[in-house]
Amino acid sequence: MDTLTAPPIAFDNSYARLPARMFARIDPEPAPAPGLIAWNAALAEHLGLPAMDEATRAAVFSGASVPPGAEPLAMAYAGHQFGGFVPQLGDGRAHLLGEVIARDGTRMDIQLKGSGRTPFSRGGDGKAWLGPVLREYLVSEAMAALGIPTTRALAAVETGAPVWREAGQLPGAVITRVAQSHLRVGTFQYFAVRQDLDALRALTEHGIARHYPQAEGAEDLLREAVAAQARLVAQWMAVGFIHGVMNTDNCHVGGLTIDYGPCAFMDDYHPQTVFSSIDRGGRYAYANQPQLAVWNLAQFATCLLPLMDADQEAAIERATAIVHGFADVYEAEHLARFRAKLGLTTAQEGDAALVQALLDRMAGAGADFTRVFRGLATDSAVAAEFPDPAAFRDWERDWHARLAAEGSALADAQARMTRVNPAVIARNHRVEEAIAAGLEGDYAPFHRLHTALATPFDPPDADGPDLTAPPRPDERVQATFCGT
Ligand code: AMP
Ligand code: MG
Repeated sequence: MDTLTAPPIAFDNSYARLPARMFARIDPEPAPAPGLIAWNAALAEHLGLPAMDEATRAAVFSGASVPPGAEPLAMAYAGHQFGGFVPQLGDGRAHLLGEVIARDGTRMDIQLKGSGRTPFSRGGDGKAWLGPVLREYLVSEAMAALGIPTTRALAAVETGAPVWREAGQLPGAVITRVAQSHLRVGTFQYFAVRQDLDALRALTEHGIARHYPQAEGAEDLLREAVAAQARLVAQWMAVGFIHGVMNTDNCHVGGLTIDYGPCAFMDDYHPQTVFSSIDRGGRYAYANQPQLAVWNLAQFATCLLPLMDADQEAAIERATAIVHGFADVYEAEHLARFRAKLGLTTAQEGDAALVQALLDRMAGAGADFTRVFRGLATDSAVAAEFPDPAAFRDWERDWHARLAAEGSALADAQARMTRVNPAVIARNHRVEEAIAAGLEGDYAPFHRLHTALATPFDPPDADGPDLTAPPRPDERVQATFCGT
């Protein structure tokens, strides 16, 4: 299929107008037999995309047919991976098709991932197999439905070409990712390590225009990014989300969740939970996430120092204070989220201790994170999650007393709680089940799960109790694998 069959899209490609050394222009590799798996019609409508039939969607969003107006490119970036610096990473299997202005006026990137080799591919094949594509589609859309800032999924397409991985031959697929930008801390690091101040200035301006139009200069950009990451990680913590690869190349300057590789939602609560098969030291465990975000933001600050002040000592002092400001924003946001999870409407001393006392009991019991909070909201048998129900009852008495102290009736608090404590999350075993069925050509479990995740606060029985239940021992997923 050639470019003539794709309808023009009203692209306006501001990244492609930046200095040429920031990216490599490269067309996606045409998929031989594209087949549409999923299409996000609401997002397409929001983006103002032209009407397309299914075959055209599959062709355009697999890279088989590049629509007029697109200027495909792979972005340059670097990154600290598990603490070690890699001066050149870049989009090794992604093509930014271009940017469109959405109906609300926001400029949005449309990017294919899994669409073939680029000058940044290093030893990789530039491809993605079906599993990580379905996982990212499900989990990123689940995050969006939970109100958590994230890249979005517009389309998932089978390419019709196999890819080879450790497991053998697997179906290839492409996911189309949509976001306010794809600016990572690693994007800035790429130019900082090359001492390319002009590029850093251009990126700073670009980042401000895309995310923080009220900001003025590098110092403001840093302050905004620190606050946005602090709010983001607090939101992850409040739903039991573990990103899994919080490398600086996966740390989004606009505070979006990006790069759904070995990410997972926790079933049983334990602060040291790790799923990622490559995270052997537990660097990116659930409880470490705020600390690691600070580490990433310190790398971002380092990049911006030369733009902040000619006096580098002064710049370091101010940048350090800004990065340390993470803690205040994070703690306030974290406590606010957990107060809401307990139905509290006021702030009182002792609230943090009340939250912690519940989490400690949950950790001791291996209680299911999502079911405990949802259960508190719906009066289901929460005590049964605890091997020592009496210990839970003690906590519950304190919680009821705390509600009474602010004059909240339990029933009213519970009504509020059902709107912030999801019934349905993207549980690992259900995601894996959807992938396994997809590999057999059956996308019904994928679509069913996707539909349920779109309304996570609805009563569980609306979607089927199997989607809200924790895994049985034989269903438990021990490790998740990077999206390569
Ligand atoms: P990720 O683990 O997906 O965040 O990717 C880390 C780096 O590896 C990025 O530069 C990716 O573009 C690159 N990469 C991952 N998978 C592939 C692949 N199959 N082919 C080429 N590059 C890849
Ligand atoms: Mg990445």
